[in-house]
Amino acid sequence: MSTSDDCLFCKIARGDIKAAITYRDDRTIAFKDIGPKAPLHELVIPARHIASLAEATPADAELFGHLMVVAAQRAKESGLAENGFRVVMNAGDDAGQSVHHVHLHVLGGRAMVWPPG
Ligand code: 5GP
Ligand code: ZN
Repeated sequence: MSTSDDCLFCKIARGDIKAAITYRDDRTIAFKDIGPKAPLHELVIPARHIASLAEATPADAELFGHLMVVAAQRAKESGLAENGFRVVMNAGDDAGQSVHHVHLHVLGGRAMVWPPG
């Protein structure tokens, strides 16, 4: 598995840094965001280090689809299927990406505004 020594989310994936993990399989980990912006705020990451969605290639299509399916599963398991939830992936500086390891935000449990800031 390709991980990066100095990447925060690779450290979480390896278990070097603790996180409240809610789901794990051979290529994906979901865990609670340390600074939740909604009653449910989890992050879904690939176990493999990919810095940004901007680096995704056609070979990654199945993996990125899997991240979305895991996000939906976590939202459903958290009881958000009926009222709705939001899935967000920030990519790059203008979007406010602060951790450079791909992650989907899964947010729910309150009404969201649109457009996002
Ligand atoms: P970004 O701004 O890159 O889209 O999102 C990064 C997210 O990672 C933020 O929502 C932030 O709260 C979360 N985060 C940063 N450091 C940690 C950490 O050490 N543990 C966990 N669980 N979440 C973190
Ligand atoms: Zn990483």
